[in-house]
Amino acid sequence: MRYAVLSDIHGNLEALSAVLADAAEHVDDVLCLGDVVGYGADPGPCVDLVGARARAVVAGNHEHAVVGRLDLSWFNRYARAAAEWTRERLDGDCASYLGALPLTAVVGDATLVHASPRQPQEWDYLVTEEDGLAAFAAFDTRLCFVGHSHVPAAWSLGSSGPDYARGEVSVTLDAGRRYIVNVGSVGQPRDRDPRAAYAVWDVDAKRVTVRRVAYDVATARAKIEAAGLPRFLADRLAAGA
Ligand code: ZN
Repeated sequence: MRYAVLSDIHGNLEALSAVLADAAEHVDDVLCLGDVVGYGADPGPCVDLVGARARAVVAGNHEHAVVGRLDLSWFNRYARAAAEWTRERLDGDCASYLGALPLTAVVGDATLVHASPRQPQEWDYLVTEEDGLAAFAAFDTRLCFVGHSHVPAAWSLGSSGPDYARGEVSVTLDAGRRYIVNVGSVGQPRDRDPRAAYAVWDVDAKRVTVRRVAYDVATARAKIEAAGLPRFLADRLAAGA
């Protein structure tokens, strides 16, 4: 069994389409860690695609924001403008689908959560080595997949000590060790690589690999500008930052 693990799509239909096309050659099923909407110009089509393809989807902070479960004062002005724009454009079915998403899910030996398995509704970022290592006590499965920071990373814990890697991540799952993997962002990468990121979890081969996929950034940027969303949100796609 092989899963594509997607996070932080952020309404970027061009990136999502490219990732799903790439994933079709490498996986059997799709899992999603939330933030399907917010920032990009195609929230509705992204929710439809994820809803149709993914076996499990958990809520991100942007889902909670657009359905009114997260105070927008928590957001910076770009995220707030995007959340308000998105909220006005989602139909009732879409909003109730997003509002019903759970904060965590378990698939096989993996916990899925948007931000941190520790108090998922607090939306804490796992960035440093210490952030990740402190989160292992908060889930029971061998693996935990997270997103939220938009930067791929992997933490592991076992008898031979802790391990941490940032950036391009390929992890062989050793017996007796536990892992947290940040799969990066499909629709708004922030590690200075503008290509979309997602992870392939090969259960039988015991491997998690972050893949990068080039997509039509120019079209995604043009749609954001045409929608009247903040120009910064278009420009950052080209920088991958
Ligand atoms: Zn996000």
